[in-house]
Amino acid sequence: MNYNSPTAIANVFCIANQKGGVGKTTTAINLAAALAALRKRVLLIDLDPQGNATMGSGIDKNKVEQNLYHVLIGDATIAQARVRSEAGGYDVLPANRELSGAEIDLIQMDEREQQLKQAISQVVSEYDFILVDCPPTLSLLTLNGLASAHGVIIPMQCEYFALEGLSDLVNTIKRVHHNINPELQLVGLLRVMFDTRVTLQQQVSAQIETHFGDKVFKSIIPRNVRLAEAPSHGLPGIVYDKNSRGAKAYVAFGNELIKRVKKEALRQQARPRV
Ligand code: ATP
Ligand code: MG
Repeated sequence: MNYNSPTAIANVFCIANQKGGVGKTTTAINLAAALAALRKRVLLIDLDPQGNATMGSGIDKNKVEQNLYHVLIGDATIAQARVRSEAGGYDVLPANRELSGAEIDLIQMDEREQQLKQAISQVVSEYDFILVDCPPTLSLLTLNGLASAHGVIIPMQCEYFALEGLSDLVNTIKRVHHNINPELQLVGLLRVMFDTRVTLQQQVSAQIETHFGDKVFKSIIPRNVRLAEAPSHGLPGIVYDKNSRGAKAYVAFGNELIKRVKKEALRQQARPRV
């Protein structure tokens, strides 16, 4: 499969961080909704057996007929298993606890880390963006995510140990780039749950900028209670309260990502062909 064929237009991005509870799912849901609001065609793939991205998109993870598990083991296609998030204006490939069983089934398969990529290749021309919400582990599931993606978006909190955890993740991305998926790139780091009143957060934020330069997104997502409340209503934060600071920040991030992708595409075109 070649994502660069003329009909292949989706950008496939993993939202990943091995650390738990850093804002991956909140970012995945709100970025999906922000891009949809900006008239992009979006598929959100829930790669976490917790099913939080599914529920937060207003889809009952226990009522769907098929889910990502069935896709990974070859019992369904994405076209059969996807569900529309009416609230968010995007499609969701849902997940629930069944997905944790996929690890065991996958181990017995050939090309076990390529199953998601193969499934995505059938719908890649139907979307502008395919976002993959990864679990907080480096499991075979996450590997399937990284193997199918063009890039990784890393949400992170500006805390004392943040940089330490980050080097593990960056090394993982490098290894996957080398061994499994030469297309994989670090798209950028997104600072989330940011509180400007906390001096330590400002210091860590400045350190991240020094370290990673233009790989750090300019948009910063503030700590905002409306974003935390939204999933219990089955709505993305940007729909639940579009005037909240959190919602505005995610829309700004959506715009920034679109610009970055366009710039990157132009850079690729400008490269001499060999
Ligand atoms: P896991 O590793 O378990 O998958 P995660 O990285 O996906 O977690 P989230 O579930 O998005 O993290 O967020 C963890 C908690 O922080 C949730 O309760 C969420 O509502 C809250 N949260 C995330 N972003 C923000 C924010 N910007 N402001 C306030 N609360 C937030
Ligand atoms: Mg999550």
